[in-house]
Amino acid sequence: MSAIIGRVDNLRSKFEELGVDAMLVTDDENRRYLSGFVGTAGYLFITQDGAVLATDSRYTEQAGHQAPGYRVDRITGQFDWMPGLISEFGIKRLGFESDNVTVQLLDRFKAATAGSENGAAHLELVPTAGVPLGLRAFKDADELALLQRSIDIADHAFTEVAKTISAGDTEDEIAWRIEVAVREQGAESLSFPTIVGSGPNAALPHHRAGERKIQEGESIVIDMGARYRGYCSDLTRTVVVGKPDDQFKKVYDTVLAAQLTAVESVEVGMTGADADNLARAVIVEAGFGEQFGHSLGHGVGLEVHEAPWVASRVDTKLEAGMTFTIEPGIYISGWGGVRIEDVVVLENGRARVLSHAPKFET
Ligand code: ZN
Ligand code: ZN
Repeated sequence: MSAIIGRVDNLRSKFEELGVDAMLVTDDENRRYLSGFVGTAGYLFITQDGAVLATDSRYTEQAGHQAPGYRVDRITGQFDWMPGLISEFGIKRLGFESDNVTVQLLDRFKAATAGSENGAAHLELVPTAGVPLGLRAFKDADELALLQRSIDIADHAFTEVAKTISAGDTEDEIAWRIEVAVREQGAESLSFPTIVGSGPNAALPHHRAGERKIQEGESIVIDMGARYRGYCSDLTRTVVVGKPDDQFKKVYDTVLAAQLTAVESVEVGMTGADADNLARAVIVEAGFGEQFGHSLGHGVGLEVHEAPWVASRVDTKLEAGMTFTIEPGIYISGWGGVRIEDVVVLENGRARVLSHAPKFET
């Protein structure tokens, strides 16, 4: 509850810079983050001293329980509620989420407020982008606890399922065992469809899982996550059934060295590009630069991919309290691939690793 008030106050502190006197929040995850309300329909109308959650009759009772800091207004599918709130709070410039609102929805906002006789006629709708998302990059204590739980569930599920993998299992069978293990430990769902890429499929960073049977000696990339009370984990491990060949050892040891180097050397104040380069330099040095085609990592929280972005060409700085993945990989077409991914939080200037699933040893 107090955490929610802190988040709303953080949003209010951006109003001046944004040139708005209220924000209309429409994005599902931003609405959840800023109110605690987990329903899938509704609008937050946040002013300097007011907070209204406008939702329909399916959700008003739930909203009252989940968002105690808000006044809950019952609305219909029409936008006749908007002019009333605008005149009640004397709003002149209303920010909206231009990275979420469709052209159609914006037209409805405009139609609802244009020519209104109760003060909304002079309203200016101000597009803003990435504002709650920017706040969400920093995790408060409540969020870190939930995120850690979702990470622990994924770690545990991976550890248990890894012991069961044998030659002849299909990728789909392994993915299903992971899904069962994640749900049995209390996750509400997977955080994304599990990737199990074996042999040549491991060379495709976003292969999902299929009917291919696992063979001895080949790389198996498993990328998975759990969703616990909204928070998503994201974990990748690469394993082998039986004895890996020399190629695997060379690639795996390079990815592991790159991953550990980034974890140990990333610091508060580095840009996303600086951090990306910590791992990339190790991979380039080993001669696999062309085979590491994706970015080093991404923020993780209510969405499995969110700010901050840890990638070359990202010049925004990494700051204390941010959580993100560190996941270098090497992919060799026709042979296979290796990726290793942990989630970290920046604390006391450095990264603290939140993932504890064991790593394969060559
Ligand atoms: Zn992942
Ligand atoms: Zn990831």
